[in-house]
Amino acid sequence: MLALLPPIPVATAAESCDASQSYTLLVHGGFVEYAEEVEPRHIELIRRLVGEGRADLAQGNRALDVVVDAIVEMEDSGILDAGKGSIVNTAGVTETDASVMDGQTGESGAVAAMQRLKNPIRAARLVMEKTPHVLFVGTTGEKTVIDLGAEIVEPKTYFKEYVAPPQPTRDASARPRHGTVGAVALDRCGHLAAGTSTGGWPGKLPGRVGDSPIVGASTFANRRFALSATGLGESFIKRGATRDIAARAEYLKLPLQTAADYVIKELIGGEDRAAGAIIAISVDGEIVLSSNGYGILFGHASNLTPVEAGSKLD
Ligand code: ASP
Repeated sequence: MLALLPPIPVATAAESCDASQSYTLLVHGGFVEYAEEVEPRHIELIRRLVGEGRADLAQGNRALDVVVDAIVEMEDSGILDAGKGSIVNTAGVTETDASVMDGQTGESGAVAAMQRLKNPIRAARLVMEKTPHVLFVGTTGEKTVIDLGAEIVEPKTYFKEYVAPPQPTRDASARPRHGTVGAVALDRCGHLAAGTSTGGWPGKLPGRVGDSPIVGASTFANRRFALSATGLGESFIKRGATRDIAARAEYLKLPLQTAADYVIKELIGGEDRAAGAIIAISVDGEIVLSSNGYGILFGHASNLTPVEAGSKLD
């Protein structure tokens, strides 16, 4: 007889792998609407954490560990829209979303509308490794992940009081803050992983869940590709954006960049008139950035290339 739920996967200790010399880390710190949004402190943060991740991958650490560690650093930084730096919703409350996916096993975990978690990406990993489920939401879901070991904070003192204006503006003092964070990595075992974490889109209503905790919308990884998105989440959910990009690349035998550009620029930007960007890598060494705005705050390093950080794509 078929079981209703798969068995709870057993968490494995961090293993080391040196089967190959190739490894890649690509991270993002969110969609960039105007060049002025990116400050030197953003670039410094990305440069530092990509350097650390590169060293970990060189040592044979797992892609999944490196992805989660990079996202934790961005969540803790307080200068991006994730973890400590998360924006608040229209009721003045921080609600965070995150997801992670292991491309090798196909397992994923996610949390959404969490009000007290210090590191939503770690909670997402707990969901993946310690439960038979993939997504926990709201107050009761938060209690479950806290019982599993997720660290909590006092929201009023921990999160910054950042109220984003509802409309995009060029006025620096009133500019909405983007800065969803994400990471994709290929380790020396040839395994891929992806993760995304956010405080959400400026002007969001209470209880709204974006694309960042939705596998196949913002985060996706399998044995060929790993992707993480940022932008207006509603469009990414309706498009199943990251799954669509991976499917186009695989089924239509397109370069990953071509598939990503079509979904980000033609469909999400062109047809939906929605802002968005993506990072993606393939097991064959493709490195993809695509945006329908100014760019995406990104950092990259591999066994062949030194640490690079920036924001403009074209
Ligand atoms: N995609 C996120 C959301 O809609 C926001 C962002 O990437 O800036 O919640």
